[in-house]
Amino acid sequence: MKIKAGDTVEVISGNDRGMRGTVRVAMPRTQQIIVSGIKVMRKHQRRTANMRTEPGIIEIEAPLHVSNVMLVCPGCNQPTRVGYEVSEDGKRRICKKCEEVVD
Ligand SMILES: [Zn+2]
Repeated sequence: MKIKAGDTVEVISGNDRGMRGTVRVAMPRTQQIIVSGIKVMRKHQRRTANMRTEPGIIEIEAPLHVSNVMLVCPGCNQPTRVGYEVSEDGKRRICKKCEEVVD
């Protein structure tokens, strides 16, 4: 997957368009990611029998599909498409705009 945990991404569609955040969780199997502060949903938590959870409103970050975000390049600080550079060490991601190596 082109996006990994720890990357900074910018949302390019939906209500959170233009917002940036850090990827907390990447789920390659479903091509989804969870981004800090993006797509926050409020969920009403009911009091449960075991009393371990506080009742009230909790905020959770919903997963979003990788196609809804672009990687923000650490070199040029712009949302960019990801390219690959292949060397003896393996494949590395590069910014398609400034060719900065992302990792
Ligand atoms: Zn760049």
